[in-house]
Amino acid sequence: MVYARPAHRERVQRVSGWYLDGQRFRRGTVGWEDEVIVEARAGRAREPLAEGLIVPGLWNAHTHLGDAIVTQELKGTIEELVAPPHGLKHRVLARAKDAAVIAAMRRAMATMLRTGTTGFSDFREGGLKGLKLMYAAVAALPLQGVALGRPAGLSYDSREVAAILRASDGIAVSAYIDWSAGDIEKLAADVRRARKVFAIHCSERVREDIDQVLDLDPAFLVHMVQATDGDLERCADAGVPIVVCPRSNAFFGLTPDIPRMLAAGVELRLGTDNAMINVPSMLREIEFAYRVARMKGEVPAKEIVGMALRGRTLADPKATCSIRVGERADLLVLDLPGGANGFASLVRATASDVRLVVAGGRPWSGNTMQTERKRTRRR
Ligand SMILES: [Zn+2]
Repeated sequence: MVYARPAHRERVQRVSGWYLDGQRFRRGTVGWEDEVIVEARAGRAREPLAEGLIVPGLWNAHTHLGDAIVTQELKGTIEELVAPPHGLKHRVLARAKDAAVIAAMRRAMATMLRTGTTGFSDFREGGLKGLKLMYAAVAALPLQGVALGRPAGLSYDSREVAAILRASDGIAVSAYIDWSAGDIEKLAADVRRARKVFAIHCSERVREDIDQVLDLDPAFLVHMVQATDGDLERCADAGVPIVVCPRSNAFFGLTPDIPRMLAAGVELRLGTDNAMINVPSMLREIEFAYRVARMKGEVPAKEIVGMALRGRTLADPKATCSIRVGERADLLVLDLPGGANGFASLVRATASDVRLVVAGGRPWSGNTMQTERKRTRRR
């Protein structure tokens, strides 16, 4: 990863253009110092680091970055590819060298940064050791990661769970139906006692009992493709958000009904799911989600963009999806039209539109080639 040096000595760094302020884009300048936004005002900065459409760093609400170790063309069903314990990804991960898994995850993380994602929540397989590999991969990168571990097997062991909880932000498991009811209840109760995050895939290829799943007190559910209107309403009533992963679903011949989920009053977030199935670019997920939503009805571009930002509240419940003074300096600047059409621009954005990514106050130039050349000249 190569970081651009600050353009000048002044401590406050600035970008100008159209910045997202809640429900609309305003023309002006955003400034930050260290990790925090300190200015959001009208007018153009004298020497902005970049100019364009400015949004908070995107948040990938569901990843399995360890899957980036699998690089072959994929054939087969959900069970054959991703289900524990014998799906392809689990077989490859079990025999992969630690350094190779770390390198694959770091490559996926670099892709996220390059494409404007500054935070993510990952379902990390492989027990305590799996978490350690993830921390090794994210070290020195300015990404905000929520690491959700899981026991190495599909059974409950209180000592293993305690060790995982000490080393993680919480626990996330494959599915309710993969576990015995007693064991998964004990697991979720331990997470609750530790005041950490419990998350779970639900109703991806078969409908699961929503009441049993909600009794586990999850912070969020992933997929819910097979959910009924009643299931979705139960989630809305319980205030449990759903993360949808449309590209992952499409790979297995499934389509999430985004308009129906929104009509039920559910809070939606967007994730890229398995890194072996989808490159973890939220720009690609946003575009695909918008198209898939249109197939089932009409969803405003603003709604889809919100889904790509909202996951940040998992890391900081007080965070907003706005560029405001006091927020963490995570910014994405795109070479796209702003004004009233800012949201429509965003659902068409590609990686080549990225002008600058700022993650935790650290500017990273989207133009890797140019920065590499500059660095080579300095040597
Ligand atoms: Zn998943």
